Amino acid sequence: MHVLMVGAGLSGAVTGRALAEAGHRITVVEGRAHVAGNCHTERDAETGVMVHVYGPHIFHTDDAEVWDYVNRFATFLPYRNRVKTTSRGAVYSLPVNLHTINQFYGKTLRPDEARAFIETLADTSISDPRTFEEQALRFVGRDLYETFFKGYTQKQWGCSPTELPASILRRLPVRFNYDDNYFFHRFQGMPRDGYTAMVERILDHPGIEVRLSSRFARGQAADYDHVFHSGPLDGWFDCDLGRLGYRTLDFERFSYRGDYQGCAVMNYGDVDVPWTRITEHKHFAPWEEHEGSILYREAARACGPDDIPYYPIRLVAEKALLGAYVDRARGERGVTFVGRLGTYRYLDMDVTIREALDAARLFLDAAAKGETMPAFAVAPV
Ligand code: UDP
Repeated sequence: MHVLMVGAGLSGAVTGRALAEAGHRITVVEGRAHVAGNCHTERDAETGVMVHVYGPHIFHTDDAEVWDYVNRFATFLPYRNRVKTTSRGAVYSLPVNLHTINQFYGKTLRPDEARAFIETLADTSISDPRTFEEQALRFVGRDLYETFFKGYTQKQWGCSPTELPASILRRLPVRFNYDDNYFFHRFQGMPRDGYTAMVERILDHPGIEVRLSSRFARGQAADYDHVFHSGPLDGWFDCDLGRLGYRTLDFERFSYRGDYQGCAVMNYGDVDVPWTRITEHKHFAPWEEHEGSILYREAARACGPDDIPYYPIRLVAEKALLGAYVDRARGERGVTFVGRLGTYRYLDMDVTIREALDAARLFLDAAAKGETMPAFAVAPV
């Protein structure tokens, strides 16, 4: 079959590769001048620093098949994400761990003591936390919540944490030991030559043709046996029911001679500091040495029609609109919506790859039975 992949990010590349290996012919159309979507990396010509052009991407997973997969296409080197936060005039370690707790309260607690102490601060009247704020108050209490989560979250999402789901905070663990690795997954690392080189290798197959700087129009779908659409779900329908809301990011790029902040990611928890975090890209490649440094000050805001969508908002209003688009998508034939934008979900890279491999299997199984692939391999709601 001749299959079109709309978008050359992880979804399009991984599914396209699997279908090409099974003997199908793949065309990939990508609006940007490069592959790899938002995990695109590019060396800065002046300093030699590998820049995460659309913001920091750190690979971490518990999925051994996904880890093997990425290691087939890139050399991964050890990288541990150790995030700091500047809040209320001090620098603390994140995620909230025993060091953070002891520093914040001026104590020398051991793990069991810290657990018991935090339990005295936690609001145990909240038995089933539904919102971000309730989740935080239930598990860390008001002081830690207000210092580390409230301001940052307000800036990141543009609304009060009382309006956000608890699931967002569940991404961040609280640890009663000194483990300051931001992620708890078994496998973690950075591709030595960047994500773009990795995605280029995934797409490097005789059955795959990639067209960069090529905008997709829905009329093109008729030329193919099937389409995998990794662009925005609402975009497929020309947003005619309204736009699904996203947060976009502004990056203020600046350079420095030497080491500006001593770590890759410094968060800013205070609501009156306009940015959420500063990333110093050379620290994402600790095996490299560079005199110069490239940094991004990162701030989130509502995504307009000409901005790059990053984080799906997924509050009540967006979910209603999403439901309407999902119903319509289910009525389409010959197209499957995939990835972060195609299914309007907050997806980490490893989950995107897992779903792309599964979508390819589903397609091959359906094709073997003479059936058509459904509109969604993973339901967005
Ligand atoms: N968060 C916070 N304070 C921080 C870092 C994160 O309150 O210093 C909250 C914030 O709401 C954020 C969520 O936790 O959206 C998830 O954080 P994560 O670092 O996973 O976000 P990402 O790197 O995906 O932007």
